[in-house]
Amino acid sequence: MNKQRTVILGAGESGVGSAILSKLKNFEVFVSDNGSINQKYKDVLINNNIDWEEGKHTENLILNADLIIKSPGIPDSIPIIKKIIENKIKIISEIEFAGAYTNAKKICVTGSNGKTTTTLMIYHLLKKAGLNIGLAGNVGKSFALQVAQNSFDYYVIELSSFQLDGMYDFKPDIAIIMNITPDHLNRYDNVFQNYVNSKFRITQNLTSNDYLIYCSDDEVVNNELKKRNINARKMPFSLSIKDSDGAYVENNNIIINMTNSNFIMSIQDLALQGKHNTYNSMAAGLTGKVLKIRKEIIRESLADFQGVEHRLEPVIKVHGIEFINDSKATNVNSTWYALETMKKPTVWIVGGIDKGNDYSILTDLVQSKVKAIICLGVDNKKIHKVFADFTETIVDAASIEEAVSAAYYLAKKGEVVLLSPACASFDLFENYEDRGRQFKMAVREL
Ligand code: ADP
Repeated sequence: MNKQRTVILGAGESGVGSAILSKLKNFEVFVSDNGSINQKYKDVLINNNIDWEEGKHTENLILNADLIIKSPGIPDSIPIIKKIIENKIKIISEIEFAGAYTNAKKICVTGSNGKTTTTLMIYHLLKKAGLNIGLAGNVGKSFALQVAQNSFDYYVIELSSFQLDGMYDFKPDIAIIMNITPDHLNRYDNVFQNYVNSKFRITQNLTSNDYLIYCSDDEVVNNELKKRNINARKMPFSLSIKDSDGAYVENNNIIINMTNSNFIMSIQDLALQGKHNTYNSMAAGLTGKVLKIRKEIIRESLADFQGVEHRLEPVIKVHGIEFINDSKATNVNSTWYALETMKKPTVWIVGGIDKGNDYSILTDLVQSKVKAIICLGVDNKKIHKVFADFTETIVDAASIEEAVSAAYYLAKKGEVVLLSPACASFDLFENYEDRGRQFKMAVREL
C-alpha cells in the first residue's frame, strides 16, 4: 500500500514537531513554508530526511496530500488554503494530529487572556506533585515533538483559538476556559460569535468523565454555556459566586470546594497578585483538586510560582520609581487588569497596533490611577482622543528609549511606570517579547 502523505504548512516549532511525528508514524512527509525557515529547524528537517521548501508553496507538492497540518499562524484566506479546501483535503492543527498518538491525560487551557500564566502554574503544581507531565502549546517544545520523543502520563497544553480551529476529534480530560473577550477578530470576519465558537471547540468532545473548569464571572462564557449541552462535570471559579463544586473568593481567601473536601488559602499568600491572577490561581488550584493533589502541594505551588516574563513583571526600582513590564498585554482587557492592580500613581506607556480596540472600558481606571500617558506607537491619535479628558499629561514617544526617559521624567519617587500597551507590537518591534526586552534594557540604562 502507498504511504499516506502529510503536508505540513509552516515550519516553526509546531510544524517541525508535526513533521517528525509524521515521519515516525510512517507517513510520507513534506514541509512547505512561504517565508524563510529558521536554520535551527532546517537542520532538524535535514537530519531527519524530511523534504521541505521555503519561500513558496508549490501546488503540485501540496495538493497531493492526504492530510494537511497547518500552522495556527496561517489564515484561511491565503490562496493555497483556498485551493486545499476546494480539493477537499482535510486540514488539521498540530494538536489534533499529535493528540491521536498519545494516551496521556490532557489538561487544556484556553481563553483570551491568562492562558500562558495558568498553563505554567498548572505545570508547576503538577510537577511539584510528582506527576510525569509535559508542557505544550505556546511555550517550549511542541506537543507533537514531545509525543514523538517522550512518554508523559499528563500534558498541560495552552490552546489558542487558531489551534482550536483545526481540531475535530481531540478531547481534553480537563478543559479550562479562562475568559472570552474580543481579540483577533480580523481572523473571524469581525464576528465575535465566530471567535466564541472557536474557543468553545475545546468542549466539543467532552464526556461525563471529563471536567470543564471555567470563569463564572464571565458573561460571554455563561451565556454560551446556557446555549450548549456540555456533558462534562462543570467546575466554575468566581470572585464572588459560591458554588458547591468550584472555587470562589470570600473574606480575602480563595476557597475550593469539591465533594466534601475544601481548600482555603489567603489571597495574600498567592505568588501572583491582582484579580486576574486570583482567577489564574483558582483555575490552577481547581485542576489540582480534580487530580486529587494534596492540599499542601497546591498551597505551596500557588505560593511559590515564579511569574512569567512580560506579564506584570517587576523590572527594577530607579530612585524609588518602580518599572513594570506588561508587554504581553496586547489587548484592552489584559491592560484593564494591569491598571486595576496598580496601587500607586502610574505613568502608563500604551500603544502600538490597535486591533480595533474599544478603550472606553479603561477610562475610569485611567482617571483614578494614571497621572500621565506615554503613547508608544506609530499612530497615537485614538489614544489622545479617548483619554484627553481623563489624565493631565499625554505625550508621544517614537522609540522605547524616548518612552522610558519621558516616563522617568514624569514619575516621582514612590510612583510606578507601567508598560501595558493594549496593542500588538509590530509597528515598532519584532514581537511583544522584543518590546518587553527593549523596555527592560532601556530601564536598566537609566
Ligand atoms: P495569554 O497566554 O492568554 O496571552 P498571558 O498569561 O500571557 O495570557 O497574559 C497575557 C496578558 O494578560 C498579560 O498582560 C497578563 O498580565 C494579563 N492576564 C493574565 N491573566 C489574565 C486573566 N485571567 N484575565 C485578564 N488578563 C490576564
